[in-house]
Amino acid sequence: MSHNAFITEETIEGDDDGPLSGKTVAVKDNISTEGVRTTCGSEMLDDYVPPYDATVVARLADAGATVAGKANMDEFGMGTTTETSAFGPTENPVSEGRVPGGSSGGSAAAVAAGETDLALGTDTGGSIRCPAAFCGVVGIKPTYGLVSRYGLIAYANSLEQIGPIAPTVAEAAELLDVIAGPDDHDATTREEGADSNYAAAADGDVEGLTIGVPTELVEGADEGVVEQFEAALDDLESQGATVEKVSLPSVEHAVEAYYVIAMSEASSNLARYDGVRYGHSGGFEGNWNETFAKAREEAFGDEVKRRVLLGTYALSAGYHDKYYKKAQDARAWVKQDFDAAFEDVDVLASPTMPTPPFPMGESLDDPLKMYLADANTVPVNLANLPAISVPAGETDGLPVGAQFIGPKFDEETVVRVGSALE
Ligand code: GLN
Repeated sequence: MSHNAFITEETIEGDDDGPLSGKTVAVKDNISTEGVRTTCGSEMLDDYVPPYDATVVARLADAGATVAGKANMDEFGMGTTTETSAFGPTENPVSEGRVPGGSSGGSAAAVAAGETDLALGTDTGGSIRCPAAFCGVVGIKPTYGLVSRYGLIAYANSLEQIGPIAPTVAEAAELLDVIAGPDDHDATTREEGADSNYAAAADGDVEGLTIGVPTELVEGADEGVVEQFEAALDDLESQGATVEKVSLPSVEHAVEAYYVIAMSEASSNLARYDGVRYGHSGGFEGNWNETFAKAREEAFGDEVKRRVLLGTYALSAGYHDKYYKKAQDARAWVKQDFDAAFEDVDVLASPTMPTPPFPMGESLDDPLKMYLADANTVPVNLANLPAISVPAGETDGLPVGAQFIGPKFDEETVVRVGSALE
């Protein structure tokens, strides 16, 4: 397909009828599909064919949806642009020459280009919301524990959730209704939210709601992005919401804390790819260490190697307290700040991304710049909260997204505010 949104175009038919019958859903390629290759955008898993379906894939089939193919992504979800995929970058279908965002860039691009009705992405630090914002579509990152991660190939377990990407808030909410709810295969799933009706919450009624705007999440954004974001707030005020400024002082440490935790978990999760039990084999040569090293040297890309090295360093004896434990302390502080804010407001709002989509090729040589682009999305994962990204106009012809963050398991409010803006 023209924008390279799919790694594998094999489709999987769902049951005859159900709430999503006749709908196609692109599935990010880190979500297991029985009998259909699942690569995580990595040469390491180039020929991996899962023996079972992820719970979300089984729920799609029960709901009558057809899997439209496996969507391109940054390798193992590590990136903000979908340029670190071993299968080549995905191009933004609405902004030529620009990245679609990442890491679920294939999912968002496929929806924006009309190559699928709906898509599933995963969000560890923004990977649903960023590509939704960059491609001018809607993405929801659910509360940690709302959606089963059974069959999701792990990047950073304590941070990530599977969630919907769709052209409209109502369609994203409908897909969330299908995939949400407790699962015996994932002990981190919860009963909370099980009787919610997200599709019904897309009613646009924000009369009487209080929207808090954390100043720290607006300050660093481009002028053109802030203009669109403020116009969105005016729109919501005109519909009866109250907007007030709030402060989340801890978020200034969120990017650092996120990257230490995400890389530490990644270094541990990716240890299983040794070419013997899992993944690409470079052949048996020398001792075990040499054999493992050869497989990993050959099949992991640069960004994955960088993170495994940094994560291993942060967890090693002598540095554990200095980096990993400190990052966990910062994470606890971020959670407290959000809890305090939600005592006064119903929902929080910010630009999803501080900039419009960047030109392709620009960020590969500058990982730090790429990490800083996650400033507004990673605090939400550290605090395990739900958030939505909704299109909020354009700056210089490039899409801008507005993000709404809710208290735990209050996806309904997040959906309601998103639909009002839409
Ligand atoms: N850009 C972030 C990272 O590279 C987010 C990735 C994600 O949510 N999977 O870690």
